[in-house]
Amino acid sequence: MRMPVLFLGHGSPMNALADNAYTQRLNALGRALPKPKAVLCISAHWETHGSLVTHMANPRTIHDFGGFPQALFNVQYPAPGDPALADRMTKLIPGLRLDEAWGLDHGTWSVLRHVYPAPDVPVLQLSMDRALSGAQHFQVGEKLRALRDEGVLIVGSGNIVHNLRKINWDTAAAPHAWTLEFDAWVKTQLERGDFASLCVDAWHTEAARFSVPTPEHYLPLLYVLGAADSTDQLSFIYEGFEHASLSMRCIQLG
Ligand code: ZN
Repeated sequence: MRMPVLFLGHGSPMNALADNAYTQRLNALGRALPKPKAVLCISAHWETHGSLVTHMANPRTIHDFGGFPQALFNVQYPAPGDPALADRMTKLIPGLRLDEAWGLDHGTWSVLRHVYPAPDVPVLQLSMDRALSGAQHFQVGEKLRALRDEGVLIVGSGNIVHNLRKINWDTAAAPHAWTLEFDAWVKTQLERGDFASLCVDAWHTEAARFSVPTPEHYLPLLYVLGAADSTDQLSFIYEGFEHASLSMRCIQLG
């Protein structure tokens, strides 16, 4: 069974506790997909020097944020790891190192607890090497593609538009014009299949510079696109915005 690839916008960590149209869509997605052998997540919240993959049998739940209610710190997502799969990945990605220290950060568990509420699917995280260009992140994604035929669900977790300096905490806040513009541009490039135009290291439009002021929430998308191929059907699982400067767009290929 060949698995699709997913890019999931995660937005505020509070979505981990929410029950809204977005979380309900993730929950429905988990029920609709064939059950994977494992989930490999590329999270915006794990950037490293070199590439690492979690290798522990029981990854810890990392609460990598501050200033949120205790209920969020109480969340545990005790999915097992898959050390054998991590070992195999070192054969696919030259220079990939095994990690025994990280675990599952909120980019991973805040979405997976909605997709797979019962944490019974093994989960690994692959870090993003800070030294790589956009095209090189995409190329790592290409090396992951073979895992899809082994039942591995590849998930990129970030946000296509993510600007914390321009956030409006009013939940009813309308998106900024540049939020809408950049999100729509990315959507158009995806519909055209023009993935190369999305592998950018320095953005030139004002909307892009506001939308991607730092690359980490955008880059997981490039891994997902690299793991896709021309036969994969594109669908938008969820489209929406949070707090004016976050795009919650979620993408499925395959
Ligand atoms: Zn985040």
